[in-house]
Amino acid sequence: MIHKFVKFIPECIEEGVIYISTTYATATHNCCCGCKNKVVTPLSPTDWKLTFNGKSISLDPSIGNWSFKCQSHYWIKNNKVEWSNKWTKDMIDACRSKDRIIKDKYYNKTRLKNKKRLNINKYNILKRIKKWFKVHR
Ligand SMILES: [Zn+2]
Repeated sequence: MIHKFVKFIPECIEEGVIYISTTYATATHNCCCGCKNKVVTPLSPTDWKLTFNGKSISLDPSIGNWSFKCQSHYWIKNNKVEWSNKWTKDMIDACRSKDRIIKDKYYNKTRLKNKKRLNINKYNILKRIKKWFKVHR
């Protein structure tokens, strides 16, 4: 497998190439089993993490193509495909719900942070009004 850093992911995905767009924080490749399904792996704190060591790339966590007929599951480590054992349906479901929990936790946290920020702003406005009154009394 080779990697290509691109700005836009091309329409036509070459076999054995993983296209990485840091601009759009996404990577795309054709399923490594050869079924020609396009695999899109968004890069984000809750999706995939891309490591580039200057020569080769790795994606973390593994890629599980549960929605494809092939249901292939593998890792991309240093431009090499490492195949995983076939997962049972229970394992897939467990992984999916774990993924959802991680995402929920992450987004709840950011929501909470935003709420706090909003409160701080309100507080500042109140303080400013009070100050204004003090000065103009
Ligand atoms: Zn496949």
